[in-house]
Amino acid sequence: MELSSPLTALKGVGEKRQKVYAKLGITNIGELLEHYPRGYLDLTGSLSIKDASDEHPCAVRATVTQKSPTRPIRKGLTVSKVRATDMERDLLITFFNAKYTVEALEIGEEYIFYGDFTRRMTGGEMNSPVVIQPEESGFLPQYPLTEGLSSKMVSAQMKTALENCGSLIKETLSTDILEKYDLCSKAEAIRNIHFPSDEKALEKAKKRLIFEEFLAFTLGMSLVKGKNRTAEGNAFENLSTEEFEKSLGFELTGAQKRVIAECKKDMCSAVPMSRLIQGDVGSGKTAVAASCMYFAAKNGFQSAMMAPTEVLAAQHKVTLEKMFAPFGIKVGVLTGSMKASEKNAVKAAIKSGEITVVTGTHALIQEDVEFKNLGLIITDEQHRFGVRQRSALGKKGKAPHTIVMSATPIPRTLAFVLYGDLDVSVLDEMPKNRIPVKTYLVTPELSQRAFNFVRNFAKEGKQSYIICPLVERNEDSLPLEAAADLAEQIAGQELVDCNVGLLHGRMKPAEKERVMEAFAENRLQVLVSTTVVEVGVDVPNAVCMIIENADRFGLSQLHQLRGRVGRGKEQSYCILISGTKNPETKHRLEVIAKTTDGFKVAEEDLKLRGPGDFFGCRQSGLPMLKMADMMTDIKLLELAKKAAAEILENDPRLEKAENAALSKNIQKLLEEAAV
Ligand code: ADP
Ligand code: MG
Repeated sequence: MELSSPLTALKGVGEKRQKVYAKLGITNIGELLEHYPRGYLDLTGSLSIKDASDEHPCAVRATVTQKSPTRPIRKGLTVSKVRATDMERDLLITFFNAKYTVEALEIGEEYIFYGDFTRRMTGGEMNSPVVIQPEESGFLPQYPLTEGLSSKMVSAQMKTALENCGSLIKETLSTDILEKYDLCSKAEAIRNIHFPSDEKALEKAKKRLIFEEFLAFTLGMSLVKGKNRTAEGNAFENLSTEEFEKSLGFELTGAQKRVIAECKKDMCSAVPMSRLIQGDVGSGKTAVAASCMYFAAKNGFQSAMMAPTEVLAAQHKVTLEKMFAPFGIKVGVLTGSMKASEKNAVKAAIKSGEITVVTGTHALIQEDVEFKNLGLIITDEQHRFGVRQRSALGKKGKAPHTIVMSATPIPRTLAFVLYGDLDVSVLDEMPKNRIPVKTYLVTPELSQRAFNFVRNFAKEGKQSYIICPLVERNEDSLPLEAAADLAEQIAGQELVDCNVGLLHGRMKPAEKERVMEAFAENRLQVLVSTTVVEVGVDVPNAVCMIIENADRFGLSQLHQLRGRVGRGKEQSYCILISGTKNPETKHRLEVIAKTTDGFKVAEEDLKLRGPGDFFGCRQSGLPMLKMADMMTDIKLLELAKKAAAEILENDPRLEKAENAALSKNIQKLLEEAAV
């Protein structure tokens, strides 16, 4: 038997079960061995009823003394009661819908019961425990399963696999690394992750496997970075951009100046820039991007700026046009919904070089857009894009410089994980005179007052947003009509004396643009919108935002939305309306009400949702690490980073024989992440 043998080589696995395993991506014995448990039933402690804990699931050893007949209590639900004893105390067990389990229990026989335990005077009670044979001991592995498999089966087959192939498991790390970081061998780790002899062995196994995953990941990121960096790019000349920055109408913040300098320095090198600019909403990323594009233009190169929505792409075009007009730099926009003839005209102008700066959506990365000499690519609001798209546009020019701008403040460790292949600049300073937005959480009964608030602002010539999530107002209306309904209602009633506009995702782009323009020019005082305004929209005269059904949004999304106000010199307000009774949801909303610090919001969001959900796993290009948890295993991640640096110092491209196994794992990981 080999690691590459099909599972049918194992006793108990036929064609049928082999197919079931294939659903989990397991086709051979090597892959089976790397199917790690998701948890364990711990039978290592005292199994007496006296010592059982009612705080966490535990195991109790007892002999069955009595079984009452299974009886139905309502349709589809039967209950069976079983009494057992450990000769000292008594155990009353209740099973639901477990006729066969109960039938299999024999009076006078001993079993181990595993589950939640409730203490009672003379012993305790358990509901629907797992029944385990009395000879079992130690940690019983519980596996990720699919229909047709049980942990018991997997465990039995795992044992056979280990017996036959355990000694064939290859070491992937060098002896140096194993010693230096106090890691056990791979074979030992795999044996102990499935059948740990004790808690310590389990911890060692976990440490080794997590370390290896992080190491492979870190090395993979470094290799990608190295590969991107070997491309030949355009070294710009270090020309001054002062005249442009002076023309902006405000003094750049220290952070903006620093980040612009970092980018310019990168662009003066023949190694293409690959930089992430992180800055909270309102930190002034657009001005930084514009300075860089001006720099490229002065050097005779074109720039492209990708935005996640058409509204934003259109807005960028207007903003940049204003900024660049005095310098004779022509700006164009290219979005998916433009007419073919318009598109062709813009494309021609991009190809001829007549247009120097182009903004757009995904249309920009379509194959047939040709640039005359693309020198800089900026992706705004990166968290909306997949990694793949990022690299697709990256292939357009002859190794152009790239900047990715993200408004989601990402905790440091995670930034590394997500953007390990990029250098990072942080805009950690807000423009002066910014007044933090005041945020209130109110119940729906108070929405009248919130509307009054909006009306008063409108009288003063100030503007407001009213955001509605995509929820059905009644059973048969389409989701998006929620915003439309509300706009109509409040335009006719609460805000009859204001100009109310409506914006939602399914409107035609031209219509959207018209509405946005009217709002930007203060011809509309109130904009009722779905979340299309979430990213990037910039109307400094808007001072109030009401968010209906705020509990429907994620924390980071609320923070993004709120970022649409508080952009001018006036005190701004954000009113979250929610009737939620759920304490957890309330807590979430209170976090937003309490802090305007995007980093705090993001961290809280991560804690609540986990990184996969937070970024949308596929979209973020996060590889699926089997063991490691990015949030809790931070120390090991740091160690792995250190080890990675050491390995690369000796073997920069991982070509030495000693790193061959590691290198293979990395390839696999990178393929999954589609970097
Ligand atoms: P974001 O980082 O969210 O993309 P923007 O680039 O849209 O932020 O900038 C937000 C607002 O702040 C814009 O109206 C912009 O003109 C203004 N702004 C940018 N930098 C400064 C600055 N240094 N001083 C004053 N206002 C600024
Ligand atoms: Mg922006």
